Amino acid sequence: MIIDAHAHLCRAPVGLDKIVECGRLEQVWLMDVSGCELSTNDFASEAEILQASKDFPNFFIPFGYLDLRKQPDCIEQLKEKGFFGLKAYRPEKPYDALEYFPFYERAEKLGMPILFHTGIVEKCSRRQMGSHLSCGPTNMRPAHLASIAAAFPGLTLIGGHLGYPWLDETAENLYYYPNIYHDLSGYRKDIEWLIRNLDHKCHDGNEKRYFNDKILFATDALCYGNEQGHAEAFKLMDFWTLFLEMIGGNYYRWGEPEERKKILYCNAKRIYDFILKNRSGK
Ligand SMILES: [Zn+2]
Repeated sequence: MIIDAHAHLCRAPVGLDKIVECGRLEQVWLMDVSGCELSTNDFASEAEILQASKDFPNFFIPFGYLDLRKQPDCIEQLKEKGFFGLKAYRPEKPYDALEYFPFYERAEKLGMPILFHTGIVEKCSRRQMGSHLSCGPTNMRPAHLASIAAAFPGLTLIGGHLGYPWLDETAENLYYYPNIYHDLSGYRKDIEWLIRNLDHKCHDGNEKRYFNDKILFATDALCYGNEQGHAEAFKLMDFWTLFLEMIGGNYYRWGEPEERKKILYCNAKRIYDFILKNRSGK
């Protein structure tokens, strides 16, 4: 089975039952970015994402838009609405600006993981999105996750993508911080880095952890909820399954069957189970 840890839904989605019943996916983590009001994409509304997660509970896992322009109590409201986690995207200031810390503090307290987009980002002019958001990637560098992870050790951070072109910063996140993960979706140019780095050992306080214990499969650059998006999702599942098996399996430790299963499934599953357990223990 596969878990898609960073995905999107299109407006007026159809055929979701086909995805749920396809037999290859156990979960799809849906990111709401409707708060950015992007005119470049036809993303689902917050209500549509919540509806999909209600229609298919434990399959579509909803992440609400972490709107850093609002007040920190918006986090409680998102939790009450039914969001499992949060998605940060296009902040006006760098993610690690101190004024954003009250948001992270609440997310940690409520046990809500945050997926932060990192690195290269779709070109959007100011007219193509809401106000007080960033057009470029420099407020979303992987290194910004480091101080948040250190300040809030109980918070789970997922760097969306591998943070190109700041791949060294991503490596430091994975190496040093036990609560930072990254997903492999997005810019395919970073695949050379991935091949070279998946076997690197971490020094994050956990016994025998390697980078491939902290990388999650994800689709991102497509939308569930229409036929074309579903076809692309299957294509990506095929691609990464074959890549991990036929490149990894032949030449690297991370390509061993039980290792590549971590990337496709176990790492995300562990995060999900840990968060639920952590919440029930409070
Ligand atoms: Zn995304």
